[in-house]
Amino acid sequence: MQPIENARLRYVLSWILWPVLFFGAVSLTIWAFAGDSPVLMFNLIYLSLAASLLFLERIMPHEEQWLEKDGQTFANLAHTLLSKGVVQGLIVFGGVIGITSMVTPVDDAGYGIWPRDWPMAVQVVMGLIAAEFGLYWAHRIAHEWYPLWRFHAVHHSVTRLWVINTGRFHFVDSVFSIILGITILLILGAPLEVVKWLSAVTAYIGLLTHCNVEMRFGPVSWVFNTPGLHRWHHSQDLREGNKNYGENLVIWDQIFGTYFNADRRPPVDIGIPEAMPSGFVQQLLWPFKSFRKPE
Ligand SMILES: [Zn+2]
Ligand SMILES: [Zn+2]
Repeated sequence: MQPIENARLRYVLSWILWPVLFFGAVSLTIWAFAGDSPVLMFNLIYLSLAASLLFLERIMPHEEQWLEKDGQTFANLAHTLLSKGVVQGLIVFGGVIGITSMVTPVDDAGYGIWPRDWPMAVQVVMGLIAAEFGLYWAHRIAHEWYPLWRFHAVHHSVTRLWVINTGRFHFVDSVFSIILGITILLILGAPLEVVKWLSAVTAYIGLLTHCNVEMRFGPVSWVFNTPGLHRWHHSQDLREGNKNYGENLVIWDQIFGTYFNADRRPPVDIGIPEAMPSGFVQQLLWPFKSFRKPE
């Protein structure tokens, strides 16, 4: 596939792609959630977004070098499926011990301080900000506390960013951040609809943040976690890499002083100092080998 040569067209597309793709996916999700088969439709929207980004990576890549194969496609997809499977298992387990039944539809009385009678759009934004607090700290602790870094390092060990490594997380890492994010919503008594919207938005933003597509963001990066911000987060220079912990929104980075968006190009040579094995099973075992930070 040939890259787009027309500079003007690339420029215009680079500005509109993120808003069009994200708000397009959100608009379709509003329609999907109101219909008869919300789960099926959500999955179709998710896969269509992934396919669109894979196509755009070919015709207008941000880094040509990141188009080259790294031998990690199988491991990336295997981590994605295992993490999703373990989280699904956790939801089933949550049902068995009675936690899942605490999350009820918005029309039910519910509990806690959550304002269930407010407009759903407002509740979703509140849910995003509240859960983000847990997701932010889970991510920050995973960078600053070495035993957890060992698990999170699996995500950071990639040397290229593209759509396919969006879900490359060691399942222990995924479980830790989901627990912190969801606990806050459980304490506040958020309804089921908010939890569903949160998982949809997180899925879309995740695909976008890892895509290797030439995009410009401007003020969008003041609010949302964009590819521009996340490319800094994958920097080997920890003055740049230990920044931008937000999963969907960057509000807590702004508040806690870890927001970073320099006016230059983020590094192309990304990765970690540790040597990560290339096989999926070896990567699953690697974090357990040592929890002591090398001197
Ligand atoms: Zn990270
Ligand atoms: Zn990442």
